[in-house]
Amino acid sequence: MKTSFSISRFGGINISIHWTFIVLAIWIFLVNFSNASVISGLIWSAVLLITLFASILVHELAHLVAANYFGLYPSAIVILPIGGVASMTSKARSHWHEFFILLAGPLANLVIACLLIFFIHPYQAYWNESENIGVVNAENFLFQLQVINLSLAILNLIPAFPMDGGRMVRTVLSIKMNAVNATSIEKLISTFIAFALIISGIFVVNFYIIVFGLFVLATINAVKAFPSENMQSQTKRRKYKSFQRANVIE
Ligand SMILES: [Zn+2]
Repeated sequence: MKTSFSISRFGGINISIHWTFIVLAIWIFLVNFSNASVISGLIWSAVLLITLFASILVHELAHLVAANYFGLYPSAIVILPIGGVASMTSKARSHWHEFFILLAGPLANLVIACLLIFFIHPYQAYWNESENIGVVNAENFLFQLQVINLSLAILNLIPAFPMDGGRMVRTVLSIKMNAVNATSIEKLISTFIAFALIISGIFVVNFYIIVFGLFVLATINAVKAFPSENMQSQTKRRKYKSFQRANVIE
């Protein structure tokens, strides 16, 4: 099944949007329309989407800058609501290179969220107003930007696919086993986390936790397995040649 839609090719990199991002975009528009007039709802929905997209872009750029530093280049990027999944043309030379490339994305969002504290006054007032969460307007725009970046940082550190945290766990597992097994184990962990989120979301009657659990379930397979170089014979290497092209630091 086709789960993402190609939007452009930039410098040889195929960029596509996963269907979950399109669902999120529709949801943002619906929430803003129900809380404002048609025109302002339309404008602020667009502003929030651009803000989210820009934050994801910064997140992705941080991964790419770190990847470049370690001599890796992307061949494709899939945009998800929590960031992107980039396939690299080659494999990281060490597990720790891979680990730091994955960490760079959430770290960039955390830095932005921390810096924004200095521009939001008075700070407590925003967190105490529930209408400031999810609905953007001229007064709470910077606060929204901070919530988005803080969410991108925290959600990406959850140890489940397709988040960076899940891929970091896979990287650590890959130190002790081949990459295919490490991916399978992390997929099991991710499925368990997804169901735990859905069940706890139902239990505490929180719609967002349930939706996030469903999102994890729907996107686990956006992360592909890759064969470990040192585990393969020459024949297997030929067989997995296409696999190797879409490799590693997704
Ligand atoms: Zn990331």
